[in-house]
Amino acid sequence: MSRMRRFSFIFLLAAVSALAIGGFSYYRRHAGVRTGGPAVAVASLPATPKQPAPTATAYEPTAGGEKDPLIVILAPHFDDGALSLGGLLARDGTRSTVITFFAGEPTAPVRTTWDSRSGFGDSHEAMVARARENAVAMASLHAAVENLGYLDYQYRPKAPTDDIEKRLAADIEAVVASAIKKGRPVNIFAPALFEPNVEHPDHKLLHEAFVKVAAAHLGNATVAFYLYEDFPYMAHETATFRKSFLSFLEKADGMNYLPEYVTLTAEQMDAKVAAVLDYKSQRRELSSGDIGSLVRSFDTTRCPGLKSPFVACEMTYRLPDTAAVR
Ligand SMILES: [Zn+2]
Repeated sequence: MSRMRRFSFIFLLAAVSALAIGGFSYYRRHAGVRTGGPAVAVASLPATPKQPAPTATAYEPTAGGEKDPLIVILAPHFDDGALSLGGLLARDGTRSTVITFFAGEPTAPVRTTWDSRSGFGDSHEAMVARARENAVAMASLHAAVENLGYLDYQYRPKAPTDDIEKRLAADIEAVVASAIKKGRPVNIFAPALFEPNVEHPDHKLLHEAFVKVAAAHLGNATVAFYLYEDFPYMAHETATFRKSFLSFLEKADGMNYLPEYVTLTAEQMDAKVAAVLDYKSQRRELSSGDIGSLVRSFDTTRCPGLKSPFVACEMTYRLPDTAAVR
């Protein structure tokens, strides 16, 4: 609760109304143990963002074939790759790998609120089923899958004794080293922040470790670093945060970013939605809204002025080639 902060009054009102009609909080449930936190139904988000998309250029017009960069997506949880970059995967899945970091399970099974609500008996059942859902979704987008054993926030001790930041940085560093070794261009994507209104500790840890590692490799001829907008958190952010999200991000990270949008055709958008719906246990929990429609509606409003054949986009933020900035 203490980490969820600065909700606007309007937002709280929306949350209360959403609860009144039986909605639950995606944020709260996504975080698992965050009982008692402000609850918001994703379905209650306004369709029109108050926060417009930044001025951006198109992400990587591809030449096709072997010259196109490989793609590595660092995802905190099993559904994050599909929710945030499922369209990019629908387009470029065959040369993509999605690494899910917080895919571990406690040695002795536990039962958290989030697991119960997702219909599972315990953490073992939950993580096995969720890994399977991820395998199905990623296979539909032709993306390779890797899972790491970090414990989800809901399974970690309240006061962790291990050096999780250091371990994350070392694992990300290994991803970068392996990318450099391949000699083929690689674009690595990790979650952007989505404060100031909402945060999730796992997303934040991965973001911070990534930015630290990336900052040490700026200008590398082989590897490019990108942040992606986290859906559905970012949908909330764009609906409630009136200042420039880009400025917020740049200030928080001490970097300049180059916004680049991944344009999606109707077919790619459909493939993304289908993959998002493959996470059936998480879908069931989203009782107040159809997560497929929500992701479609967010992506179609993120880049106004798209021209046929493009109907939607995913916004990314590329780290500059040369060191920063402020
Ligand atoms: Zn997540």
